[in-house]
Amino acid sequence: MSAHSNNTRRHFLRSLAITSTIPLAMASRVVAAEAKSEKVPESDPVATAFGYKEDTTKVDQQKYPQHKPGQRCDNCLHYTAKAGDATGPCAIFQNRHVTAAGWCMVWVAKPEPAKQ
Ligand code: SF4
Repeated sequence: MSAHSNNTRRHFLRSLAITSTIPLAMASRVVAAEAKSEKVPESDPVATAFGYKEDTTKVDQQKYPQHKPGQRCDNCLHYTAKAGDATGPCAIFQNRHVTAAGWCMVWVAKPEPAKQ
């Protein structure tokens, strides 16, 4: 086999490896991004276990007496969306999205920003 055909074959194999690896890497990144921005449905098993409701006013007070009317995902420590966003990531749900107006039994008050 000549040096030229060896180089051609090596080049072909390298480009095959690159073209088959890139889409896979991109696809896994897209899947990870989609998983994170995926909205948590109330029917999700973890959501059900934590009494998650998309609307804090719909929380069952009998079942969750610790719930207070002003408690919402957007004033919970675990919620990391920008102020004003309708939904955002919740650390408890592996950064899947919950509604700003939602609530679950893991609610913890977000600390007030330090005054300067
Ligand atoms: Fe909402 Fe906080 Fe429960 Fe997450 S932990 S669902 S932000 S109340």
